[in-house]
Amino acid sequence: MTRFIGAFLGLRALFAAFAVFFPAVVAAEPHIAFDARIAGDELRTRIVIDFESEPSFSIHYLAEPARVIVDLPETVFGFEDGDLPARGLFDAIRYGAMGPGRSRLVLTAPGPVEVEMAKVEAREDGRGHRLVIDAVATSDTAFAGLVAGQDWQTTGATGMGDVPAVGKSGREKPFTVVIDAGHGGIDNGAIGKAGTQEKDVTLAFSRVLAERLGQERNVRVIQTRQDDRFIPLSGRVRIARQHEADLMLSIHADSIRLPEIRGATVYTLSDKASDRMAADLARQENNSDAIAGFADVEEDAEVMDILMDLTRRETQVFSVGLARSVVEGFRDEILLINNPHRFAGFSVLRAPDVPSLLVELGYLSNVEDEKLLIDAAWRTRTADLLADAILGFRNQISSAAKDL
Ligand code: ZN
Repeated sequence: MTRFIGAFLGLRALFAAFAVFFPAVVAAEPHIAFDARIAGDELRTRIVIDFESEPSFSIHYLAEPARVIVDLPETVFGFEDGDLPARGLFDAIRYGAMGPGRSRLVLTAPGPVEVEMAKVEAREDGRGHRLVIDAVATSDTAFAGLVAGQDWQTTGATGMGDVPAVGKSGREKPFTVVIDAGHGGIDNGAIGKAGTQEKDVTLAFSRVLAERLGQERNVRVIQTRQDDRFIPLSGRVRIARQHEADLMLSIHADSIRLPEIRGATVYTLSDKASDRMAADLARQENNSDAIAGFADVEEDAEVMDILMDLTRRETQVFSVGLARSVVEGFRDEILLINNPHRFAGFSVLRAPDVPSLLVELGYLSNVEDEKLLIDAAWRTRTADLLADAILGFRNQISSAAKDL
């Protein structure tokens, strides 16, 4: 048997050598990839590669780190390295030959990722075909299911067949709350009259709230940041999706044009803003990525268009229910502005499957609010009330689920 394989390999080598001299006669011409591009953010990234001819492909996944493997027939990658930089969901992209007749593209991600759509289509200008890959952020559980359920023997297909979902077996999943301390790093957020930085207020409050909720049985708390660092808005939403959060709270203490306005406000996502102030605030918040040089100007318009398309109806219903719980919990205890539940197109609230709230604890543009926002006793009191509202909401939805 060994000798047979040796003879076979020898033949293969001879064949390969022959193919080098007479490629057109005995071997398929390699495909030529002449252009490539990548766009998107940490929730959704599209990669397009242009080929002179129509390639077959297959897609697989590898874990630790999470990788998307795109296997291709022999391909000459003729585009510039700079055409396919690491960005969006991927922090490293490599491509090259994988032995005779095969090439491979390896997309490495810092978190769980899923190829939602992959196809080869003819280019409109008639010059060859393009491979389009749309990847989305997914949960750890879903990604483990993709890795376990795939068939490496499948070729030519997209590799997106029936993947068994990993069942919710064993212990009950803890109620998972993502606490997002707004801003951070190069993005200071608002700055108060006394010099208080919003990014410090949000982090200090998030720590107290995380500690308070962390004491509860069967509650898991994830913080998007625990120090002074910049995280793009899509990266914050990605973390909520990764951990299959039951809800996400983004904590803020912004500035607004009217310095006399003060008190807490609770915002939910909507494509139409409840009022001018909410619209302005959402625009200001969504600008966070641009401050750090992260945003694609041309993508901004699109983001707003797809915000509502992506958000599921029941997610919105839960978000609104939670907003009401928080407002009720604060009433008579924490100063609220008029109409304390408002809505607008906040990019950080766009997880399609995670009920999300943006809580403005107060406004750094108001001198009295600024004093409260840096007061440890006020912080603890407010975190307690917010935690109670969250736990009340959890009990509400779990008893509603039992009634079904
Ligand atoms: Zn803010």
